[in-house]
Amino acid sequence: MTATQIDLLQSAGSASQANLSISAEKIEVNAIVARGVDMIYRSGAERFQALKNINLDVKRGDIQLLMGPSGSGKTTLLSILAGILTPTAGSVSLLGEEISKLSGSKLAHFRLQNIGFIFQGFNLFPALTAIENVEVALNLKGIRKGAARQQALGLLDQVGLSQQAKRHPQDLSGGQKQRVAIARALAGNPRLIMADEPTAALDSHNGHAVIELLRNLAKEKGRTVLIVTHDPRIIDVADSVAYLEDGVLKADTHR
Ligand code: ADP
Ligand code: MG
Repeated sequence: MTATQIDLLQSAGSASQANLSISAEKIEVNAIVARGVDMIYRSGAERFQALKNINLDVKRGDIQLLMGPSGSGKTTLLSILAGILTPTAGSVSLLGEEISKLSGSKLAHFRLQNIGFIFQGFNLFPALTAIENVEVALNLKGIRKGAARQQALGLLDQVGLSQQAKRHPQDLSGGQKQRVAIARALAGNPRLIMADEPTAALDSHNGHAVIELLRNLAKEKGRTVLIVTHDPRIIDVADSVAYLEDGVLKADTHR
């Protein structure tokens, strides 16, 4: 939906409250909303506050970066925004759904349907081929054998890896493994893509290819892309850059 269409929907809504059949979800522009998020890690008597009162809004179709020095809380925040970790305080809404209120199985279902997560270090299954690594993700989403194989091949093709479909991770370069991990994260067309340091292991050529792929997902396909990174090359394609320091969000610069 374009900004103009949203404006039209909103003015239509205020012009005629009685005719307000437009659901809140349709006019929601922020794909990710965090409010007052705190995270305290505890072990025994020790407590460590990793995040302090984080407020963040990420618009639909935007590429949002999370940057900051090592130990500043980037992975903690990404994990909370993906529903992998539960914050000590505060709320997180994704696509208009307050995930901090969802129970375990509902949250798991929501994540499966809506979030493609690209892990640092790829997390591929070593015993499976490239295409099987992608197929597994499709099977989890309820897509059966023949269709899953066809879709997996399409996804590998999209990341330029159809020739390597039958190779195992050990026979792929770092850049190729990273692209298999991306193809797997895209299985089932999730509306939110979240990535932890997706270009850290890549040389310049592969890094550019991955950045272009992520840019295309946001700008051509309207996915919302959240990236933890140190890579200055990604800043060029970002819509907004949030900077963390000691668990505090110091700035969120929209570009
Ligand atoms: P970043 O990704 O920016 O390097 P992290 O989110 O991994 O930072 O960590 C932020 C801070 O929280 C660090 O000081 C780290 O040591 C601490 N931390 C991370 N995970 C845990 C944990 N499970 N238990 C205790 N402290 C943790
Ligand atoms: Mg980290």
